[in-house]
Amino acid sequence: MPISATDADALDRADSLHPFRDDFDLPEGVIYLDGNSLGALPRATPGRMQTIVAREWGHDLIRSWNAHNWIDAPTRVGDKIAQLIGAGPGEVVVADSTSVNLFKVLSAALQINRGRSVILSEPGNFPNDLYIAQGLQALSGGRVELRIVERERLAESIDENVAVLMLTHVHYKTAAMHDMPALTALAHSRGALAVWDLSHSAGAVHVDLEAAQVDFAVGCGYKYLNGGPGSPAYLYVARRHQASAVSPIAGWLGHKRAFEFVDEYQPAPGIERYLAGAHPILGICALEVGVDLLLRAEPALLHGKSQRLCTLFAELAQERCGLYDIEPILPPDPASRGSHVSLRHPHAYSVMQALIGRGVIGDFRAPDILRFGLTPLYVGYRDVWDAVDILTDVLRSNTWQLPEYQLRHRVT
Ligand SMILES: *Cc1c(COP(=O)(O)O)cnc(C)c1O
Repeated sequence: MPISATDADALDRADSLHPFRDDFDLPEGVIYLDGNSLGALPRATPGRMQTIVAREWGHDLIRSWNAHNWIDAPTRVGDKIAQLIGAGPGEVVVADSTSVNLFKVLSAALQINRGRSVILSEPGNFPNDLYIAQGLQALSGGRVELRIVERERLAESIDENVAVLMLTHVHYKTAAMHDMPALTALAHSRGALAVWDLSHSAGAVHVDLEAAQVDFAVGCGYKYLNGGPGSPAYLYVARRHQASAVSPIAGWLGHKRAFEFVDEYQPAPGIERYLAGAHPILGICALEVGVDLLLRAEPALLHGKSQRLCTLFAELAQERCGLYDIEPILPPDPASRGSHVSLRHPHAYSVMQALIGRGVIGDFRAPDILRFGLTPLYVGYRDVWDAVDILTDVLRSNTWQLPEYQLRHRVT
């Protein structure tokens, strides 16, 4: 066995990120390995929500837009997220969902690179992102084309028709991480722009948008940023592109002078032009609590721990569950992995249901994947050890075959 339970305890004691776990309100008896689907609740969030609801909304009412600076919330929290992803102030804004933000930045990239028409992506990208591109294609009346080529052929496929390369940095199933700087540089050298989806990256692995000269990015608030269910998302537009395109959703809060209420749309000069309707204040302020916590952690420590947790999980699973049809899907090089581990099993859905029944929460991704998110901020080495121990027991005892674990829920 790679290490014992006692060794895992020792690793936790030596881990300077371990104390962050006390900043989260995790239930007793649960090993939470799903922070890449819905991050855990920071202990500070309910109090902050209480203040915003009771005092700012309840008592100060509409005055709060000025008195509590609600109006600046999207850029204030955007500037904080910028620090997590290597962007500068004024390059990130919090708004809408990742899906809507992707629509906005793809459209902007196509405006800037208007002589070209292809959005290039890969099969098996998070389907949502392909759907958004398909929607844009349909709306364009034939001008825009989504082209999907296998990962190995992406580089050679960036030809003179490609306007924008659209990729997710860390793959939602396999955890394989693209070489963002290299692919972005290659896109630029062929006259294309790059849009990156950071949903499975920010808050877990190293991201430096400025160093990679990334053009546009989007990302999710409810995963590693711990913003809560349906948290608003964020988008990044490199400063050099901000004046060159407009949002396809030309809403009033993206207007240069929203409160002059003129008939004609004029975009705000900077990143604020990507705002549309009224800011979701409760959601943005909940997200801010999660982001503030992450900003206290050393980014290099986060990524290093994430790699060690993933390696440990995969080694233990291979060693202890290899006999039971379990096959870890792990990019070979630790430096090109995200922060989750997927295991293939022919009855993955039922196995995950049985695991959840034993307090180990991960998720199932169709058709045959057990996925375990190893959030470096609050998952420890002993959690990993115990989770694999319970998984081994579930497989050895065949409890996953019980009838109650066969029923498919709507959300997996
Ligand atoms: C989770 C996730 C999203 C989420 O999109 P929303 O519209 O914010 O729900 C988008 N893209 C990827 C790659 C994701 O993993």
